[in-house]
Amino acid sequence: MERAFVMVKPDGMQRKLAGEIILRLERKGLNLQMAKVLHISPDLAQKHYVEHREKPFFSELIAYITSSPVLAMTWSGEDANALIRQLVGHRNPLQAMPGTIRGDYAHETTENLVHASDSATAEEREIQLFFGGD
Ligand code: ADP
Ligand code: MG
Repeated sequence: MERAFVMVKPDGMQRKLAGEIILRLERKGLNLQMAKVLHISPDLAQKHYVEHREKPFFSELIAYITSSPVLAMTWSGEDANALIRQLVGHRNPLQAMPGTIRGDYAHETTENLVHASDSATAEEREIQLFFGGD
């Protein structure tokens, strides 16, 4: 069993897709563990996306992710990180396959509904950032 960190981003919450995203992960057999709605602070946003701090889209990404509340979650399951990344789909809307969350609902590179940890290492860091104080 592996743990994964998943977040419904501000556009996903505003478009009322949190339930749809949870449903897809549950139907695949993954287990929802912890969940909370929060409004991400600029400090938490910069820590979460530290790997992208030199990228040209960084300030746009921070403004987006702090714009309104998100749903942060932890999930568990066999190969949870790789499996959820597959269900989420590619970041580039032209490469996100129909049947994936982004492929079915996202048409933008920045506003793409959902974040998912990309490895067990990232999962541990991200869960600590979002749930460590609980
Ligand atoms: P993923 O969310 O699939 O792990 P990345 O880690 O590469 O994707 O990027 C993190 C987030 O930054 C993306 O989900 C998206 O919101 C934003 N982003 C990534 N690349 C770009 C880009 N080229 N232009 C604008 N926003 C981007
Ligand atoms: Mg990423």
